[in-house]
Amino acid sequence: MKDYPARPGFPCEESKFPWLSMLLDAYAIIDSGVALAIDEQEAKRSVKLACKEGCDNCCMQKDIPVYPLELVGIYWFSTEKIVPPVRKTLKEQLSQHEKSDPCPFLMDNSCSIRPIRPVSCRQFNVLGRPCDTGEDPYYSRRGDVLTPLEEYTERAFSAMMPFYGVSGEAVSDRAVIDSIIHAQAGNIQTYDWKNLARIMDNFDSKNI
Ligand code: SF4
Ligand code: SF4
Repeated sequence: MKDYPARPGFPCEESKFPWLSMLLDAYAIIDSGVALAIDEQEAKRSVKLACKEGCDNCCMQKDIPVYPLELVGIYWFSTEKIVPPVRKTLKEQLSQHEKSDPCPFLMDNSCSIRPIRPVSCRQFNVLGRPCDTGEDPYYSRRGDVLTPLEEYTERAFSAMMPFYGVSGEAVSDRAVIDSIIHAQAGNIQTYDWKNLARIMDNFDSKNI
């Protein structure tokens, strides 16, 4: 049994931004579900997780969903938490990013926004062998792609629902989640990131 990943915490900011706690709680649920699913599949199939540090072919795929609350988290983390020298490179990548490029947060084979990376990145895991360059294992070997545990995914999206103005029993209503969150999914690779580069520049000019 692996250690389950710890929830990243930003106590000072979480006291100011309730949405941040929602997002980090949701990510902690997702991470627990992923760890459990990996344990189950490794034991059942006698194969190991292929994903490891520095393995980045998945970050170059064209379809990486990102949801509105996740975008808020990415904007906040990039603007307020990323420090030099990564910050300079990230601003360059964001301002030059074109829709056909890999995810602009990929840097030196790793994720520059790892604590706040989207659900889709957290849940995309492959068993057996690492993905080849350009391979999308979802199509080439679906059986090796980890199927996330639905219960954890639903709990995580429920934890985000107050951000969208939903409360009470409706937070766990699948139809409501689909109509509010999934209907607003964007794509991390085709999103226009130049505005984030400008916001980071503005932040820097006020905080020199
Ligand atoms: S999904 Fe594929 S490319 Fe991404 S970390 Fe796992 S094995 Fe590597
Ligand atoms: S956000 Fe991070 S993990 Fe997700 S695709 Fe981009 S670089 Fe990869």
